[in-house]
Amino acid sequence: MEAGEPPDVPEGAVARAMSLTRPAARRALPALLRDVRACTICAPHLPLGPRPVLQLDATARILVAGQAPGRKVHASGQPFTDASGDRLREWLGVTPAVFYDAAQVAILPMGFCYPGTGKSGDLPPRHECAETWRATLLQRLPELQLTLVIGQYALAYHLPEAKGSLTDVVRAWRDHWPAVVPLPHPSPRNNLWLRRNPWFEEELLPRLRRRVATVLRGAA
Ligand code: SF4
Repeated sequence: MEAGEPPDVPEGAVARAMSLTRPAARRALPALLRDVRACTICAPHLPLGPRPVLQLDATARILVAGQAPGRKVHASGQPFTDASGDRLREWLGVTPAVFYDAAQVAILPMGFCYPGTGKSGDLPPRHECAETWRATLLQRLPELQLTLVIGQYALAYHLPEAKGSLTDVVRAWRDHWPAVVPLPHPSPRNNLWLRRNPWFEEELLPRLRRRVATVLRGAA
């Protein structure tokens, strides 16, 4: 282990989590969510400690598959309470009231806890999180009509067959329409990407807003 590198996940921690997730697959959703919110699997790697941030109800028809909380979201305990969230809600054409209604919108980042910051921004989501929880939680969304896949980590999980750069995959959004829509991260860090790819706001966003409205009306 390099100096300064956080210790590996303690041996047995993932095994314990997996033994948790096996019965978890059969647990009632509130109990499963309590398990997730009490999770400490990768605590040694998390500079601010575990604070899983997610939103899910079995009736949700839209899934926001994001990256991981930043510092502001870690502090608030609610997903997308930052500039990225403001932009994402504008992209979707939804109010905060709709966005934060778990009965309509599920929000599952690839990592539920703030992973820390590196030289060029937030670190990647902890891989243990998707390995431990994601499949079990996705099974609890039987009404899902639309999955918004945000950023490279969610793309790798939800669209593993998609080829090319994130720009290539987003530009080929019609390949996955209407069930899955790949999106760049709405972070202000991506302002340059948005300026370089005006087709995103001109072509995709108007269609995305109409699709979101249709799904929320239950008319999909
Ligand atoms: S990131 Fe996920 S796996 Fe890691 S402690 Fe948080 S909830 Fe658990």
